Amino acid sequence: MSNSLPLQSAALVETLVRPEIRAMHSYYVPDSSGLLKMDAMENPNLWPGELQQEWFETLKGLDVNRYPDPSCAELKAGIRELLKLDALQEQSGFDLDILLGNGSDEIIQILAMALSTPERGVLAVEPSFVMYKMISAFVGVPYTGVDLNADFSINLAATLSAIQEHDPALIFLAAPNNPTGNVFSEEDLQAIIDAANGLVVLDEAYMAFTDSDLLSYVSRYPNVVVMRTFSKVGLAGLRLGFMVGSSNWLKEFEKLRLPYNINVLTQASASLAIKHYDKLAAQCELLKTARSELLASLADIDGLEVFPSEANFVLVRCSNGGARSVFEAMKAQGVLIKCLDGGHPLLAECLRLTVGTVQQNEEMIAALKKALA
Ligand SMILES: *Cc1c(COP(=O)(O)O)cnc(C)c1O
Repeated sequence: MSNSLPLQSAALVETLVRPEIRAMHSYYVPDSSGLLKMDAMENPNLWPGELQQEWFETLKGLDVNRYPDPSCAELKAGIRELLKLDALQEQSGFDLDILLGNGSDEIIQILAMALSTPERGVLAVEPSFVMYKMISAFVGVPYTGVDLNADFSINLAATLSAIQEHDPALIFLAAPNNPTGNVFSEEDLQAIIDAANGLVVLDEAYMAFTDSDLLSYVSRYPNVVVMRTFSKVGLAGLRLGFMVGSSNWLKEFEKLRLPYNINVLTQASASLAIKHYDKLAAQCELLKTARSELLASLADIDGLEVFPSEANFVLVRCSNGGARSVFEAMKAQGVLIKCLDGGHPLLAECLRLTVGTVQQNEEMIAALKKALA
């Protein structure tokens, strides 16, 4: 009676899979084949030619039959040096350490597993990075979202009162924020850190594109860690995020990290990238210039409200509505961006455009103008 097996498994799924998981949708990544991909804040450039060669040589020497170094010693030493953590540690009196994740997504998950309980969950401002909320749901802990102001600044009174009411174990603040592109005021951040009984995670995924740098907060506050990623500087395919904080915190989180979460190829490739970090940084500088030009071009388009950006993307609003059809019309012209309409009331009629090369940006603008016409 093999044809009853599907029914049996469906019934089992219904009884066994947690209802909140069954109610979820998988994280949706649209098919981008054949499209100009301007939806995911990737660096449009590969490594420069001579570096490609060195990379290939490095990969040739790797033993993929062996498990990776579970401590990621070389990679962590590289990051320590890149961030000048020893100097920061000396100023602070804290022992500072680094936690590595398979993307910062995994670090968010580790934090949620380590800290949150059914009573004390996660708090984030909204709109922000959707993973904070999604991972809270995966882990099955309460999540509180506090709306930003209409200009995307922090609503401090509302945030402080939500902190008082919910006493979250974990607070996520992205600086610059995704998808809004702005950096929150340091006074607001400090007021939140002071008011929080929980751990405050400053998510600096876009730090390569801004002058804001909050790393020193880890040496000034006992309840702050700083999270960064290699994804937005040109290594999204490697999946490598990291977090810096006092080793008091990190040695606990380290227990939840799966032993081989950073694979052999990623460890070697990222170590090489750190050695030549100036090359990636130079690409990011070019993207910042391209961003200025993109912002200027967008400002000239009628029917578009353009928000300032300190990241490698720009948020715009279709003042006359129709964001969803503008998105579709751009896609029909071969350009994939991100439509945010419907995601949050503050993002009504909003689109997010990743900053690409000058030529890609021109192509994107041409498609946008046609779509708006
Ligand atoms: C893109 C992004 C990340 C990075 O996620 P990875 O898993 O490291 O690719 C983290 N935080 C924010 C706010 C982001 O936009």
